[in-house]
Amino acid sequence: METAFAAVIVAAGRGLRAGGGEPKQYRPLAGRPVLRHALDRMLARRDLCALVVVIHPEDAGRCAAALGGIDDPRLRPPVAGGATRAESVRAGLAALADLDPATAVLIHDAARPFVPDAVIDGVLRGLESSDGALPVLPVVDALWRGDSLADQPLSRDGLWRAQTPQGFRLGAIRAAHAAHAGPADDDAVVARIAGLRVALTPGAEENFKITAPGDFVRAARIVEAALETRTGQGFDVHRFGPGDHVMLGGIAVPHDRGVVAHSDGDVVLHALTDAVLGALAEGDIGRWFPPSDPRWRGAASDRFLAHAVRRVAERGGRILHADLTVLCERPRIGPHAAAMRARIADILGVDARRVSVKATTTEGLGFTGRGEGIAAMATATVALPADR
Ligand code: MG
Repeated sequence: METAFAAVIVAAGRGLRAGGGEPKQYRPLAGRPVLRHALDRMLARRDLCALVVVIHPEDAGRCAAALGGIDDPRLRPPVAGGATRAESVRAGLAALADLDPATAVLIHDAARPFVPDAVIDGVLRGLESSDGALPVLPVVDALWRGDSLADQPLSRDGLWRAQTPQGFRLGAIRAAHAAHAGPADDDAVVARIAGLRVALTPGAEENFKITAPGDFVRAARIVEAALETRTGQGFDVHRFGPGDHVMLGGIAVPHDRGVVAHSDGDVVLHALTDAVLGALAEGDIGRWFPPSDPRWRGAASDRFLAHAVRRVAERGGRILHADLTVLCERPRIGPHAAAMRARIADILGVDARRVSVKATTTEGLGFTGRGEGIAAMATATVALPADR
């Protein structure tokens, strides 16, 4: 698509039918609010020129949290919607008043997190020859009229299930909404009342609207199917020095030496933090927690690992497995391995069966063999959305 389009995402409904006690568009789906999924799909389009989210006036805080971390000049400040969907759309269109009236605008429901590019392409293509474009799917089930008893079958001919985003020219849909004071199920209705020609374009089953509680289960399956597996590795060394214990995997292991380190010198957690960051391709522990920063002096290393774990969640992924090897002649690791597994699993937020702690000597060779220091190697396996 060569011409740029603007988008309005309508997120002003209360959406409590889907359960969970908060509006469905803010409920998390694989670590990201439903709204954020819908938003990210739009922002991933290079032909998008401006995007505005219409929110309920009480949801400013929720929206700020959902949009956190987005640094994209095309995303405009959210605007407050009205009592009906039509009023909310009018508010969204008003926030795009500076754009050329001939600009294509796609109006989309926040509760449809999985709009495929093909649906957006189809709507934009439909707009080339019509005033509007409405993505639809055929009705596949037989239709019946009746109450508790079947009365008569209805023809499916010419019937379609409507989806969003629905596309229009900014000036035309703004005028149509201005002329239509009442509520409307969607924008194609408003457009048709105004006499606009609306093309039917291909929708997609994946582009369903989250409405009932069971829809979250279906949505979670779709997210799960889009995950891929990535692996990162880490390695860390600290020199032995004066002390009476070493921190290993978040456990204080008694020893006749300590380690020389800026933080608590936990080689296991440092190697694992680097492994998780490696799976994310987000640099290393030193990039996020520079040793030159006095804030990390003597710091408990679980906070470094917790940060990496939080980044996995923010990227929409989860930790699958961690495998650790400690290299030293002493202290003996075996008696502490179970406690280390449990503590590491706790920081990672996974079952201890997903954490492996092993140890080896280096046969008296090298710096570990000479007892000058201790080292650890880590491998982290992470599930991440393939497109992120
Ligand atoms: Mg270290």
